[in-house]
Amino acid sequence: MGLLDTELAELRQCVPRVIADSTVEACVPAMVRIRIEKTKYKQMVACFQFSPDYPESRALIELKSRHISHKLLDGLTKLCEDEADKYIGKPQVLQVLRFVRTFIDENPLCCCSEEISNIKKRLIACSDELKLRQKTSSVMLKVNQGLYYIKYNLTVPEDYPDKQIGIEEKECNYPPLFRRWFLAQAIEIARRCVEPPAKKKPKDPPFVLKPSMEPVVSFLIDEGHKYLDTECKVCGKKAFPDDPKNIESNESAEMHLERVYCGHIYHNKCLDTYIKTPPFQGGKNCHTCGLKIYHDKWKLTPETVEARWAHKQAKQRELDEVVDFLS
Ligand SMILES: [Zn+2]
Ligand SMILES: [Zn+2]
Repeated sequence: MGLLDTELAELRQCVPRVIADSTVEACVPAMVRIRIEKTKYKQMVACFQFSPDYPESRALIELKSRHISHKLLDGLTKLCEDEADKYIGKPQVLQVLRFVRTFIDENPLCCCSEEISNIKKRLIACSDELKLRQKTSSVMLKVNQGLYYIKYNLTVPEDYPDKQIGIEEKECNYPPLFRRWFLAQAIEIARRCVEPPAKKKPKDPPFVLKPSMEPVVSFLIDEGHKYLDTECKVCGKKAFPDDPKNIESNESAEMHLERVYCGHIYHNKCLDTYIKTPPFQGGKNCHTCGLKIYHDKWKLTPETVEARWAHKQAKQRELDEVVDFLS
């Protein structure tokens, strides 16, 4: 029996025992094919072929996976070849399988490698940072704009993408109202990736589960770059002060920033004046996008606002008459 036959006989025996979650799909001189499936998405198939002078030459290695990006598979294949090179003249397959299995364990983010690579392409153009933390299966995202920043920790669960990513704000120097919006909306975006809508509309296409990392990161990057140069369209002034230290934190102050339902920004006083003065016909629309303005602080109907305004005007006229009379 040749060296290869001996190695193959050993592999059939010991692979399922030594390599966790593995299945031997083929184990003949023409081809060895082993599947390693830690979870549905952390799975890989390692194929080996042998030239006539094996093990004096390196086995031909090919890795396949439905959920791991080609780029990562190419890189990993090269590392496997380096590993096999260490065992020239000896059995190589089991050593390479061990190496692959350890890689899957130590790199839990491999199941979102495609998404991470897309995100990194986007980040080249700006000063944002994405740090991978394989040990905790998480990524740290920091979005910078001027002196403002949003720093989030995003955790990839074991059964990702069936389950959505975990989302946690680490640091953020935007006003509280914006911080609440960033977090709530990020969680909502992730939820929609894995849960079908509660009320399905007849024309909606069937629900398809989506990985949630990239949509959430894209949202945070967009938000983090959106506000600094926007102006309050009522007064034409820049809404955000250059230095976050100068943000107005008193909610009833004139310069307190308000974010209306459509996402556009107004000063508290500017919005208040706009809502409470005529014309009232048809309600109030956003200066930037034309959508109807909704805001928790101004819940009155246009009719009530108009009635109040008329009442105030009448009062003022009475007062003016008195002033006239006395002077
Ligand atoms: Zn304003
Ligand atoms: Zn708007």
